[in-house]
Amino acid sequence: MNQPTPFAHVLHEATIAKLARGPALARGQAYFAERRVTSLSLVSGRLFGAVVGTKRYETTIWVTGDRLGYVCSCPSGSDGNFCKHCVAVAIAWLESQKAQTYTPKQGQYLAYIYYYTKLNGRPPSEADMQAYFGVSPPVVHEMVKALENRGFIARTPRTARSIRLLLERSQLPDLE
Ligand SMILES: [Zn+2]
Repeated sequence: MNQPTPFAHVLHEATIAKLARGPALARGQAYFAERRVTSLSLVSGRLFGAVVGTKRYETTIWVTGDRLGYVCSCPSGSDGNFCKHCVAVAIAWLESQKAQTYTPKQGQYLAYIYYYTKLNGRPPSEADMQAYFGVSPPVVHEMVKALENRGFIARTPRTARSIRLLLERSQLPDLE
């Protein structure tokens, strides 16, 4: 998770505040807090995010020189604005960078999610994790919430088996 990216130099809270116009900043912050950013990935130097608002919007942010390029599938984003979805995705990325380390136990859950998804073609349910780790439902539930809060996984609210790992295999421990 410590890969150097140009984002680290360009994408800061101050950048977001400068780019976002009118109510976009506060709305984007609220979207992030409401966990509306349902996916986040950095591919070939481009940050891709999906944000669920009135509809599901796709946001892409990249770095050009010392500036940010951005586009969003919403009407405001299509007009070239750094919209609330851009704000939410940018904040989600910043937060994911802050929360870079997991505990050994969290690492085991992350590795399990990775292998389960790979073997079964769908993410594990909390019941699957409960059975594998031999723990109670509240323990698994708290673990999943912690992993989500740290930016290691994303979930779609009120949707079963919607856990998505936000780390690469190389960032995970072996499953013991
Ligand atoms: Zn947008």
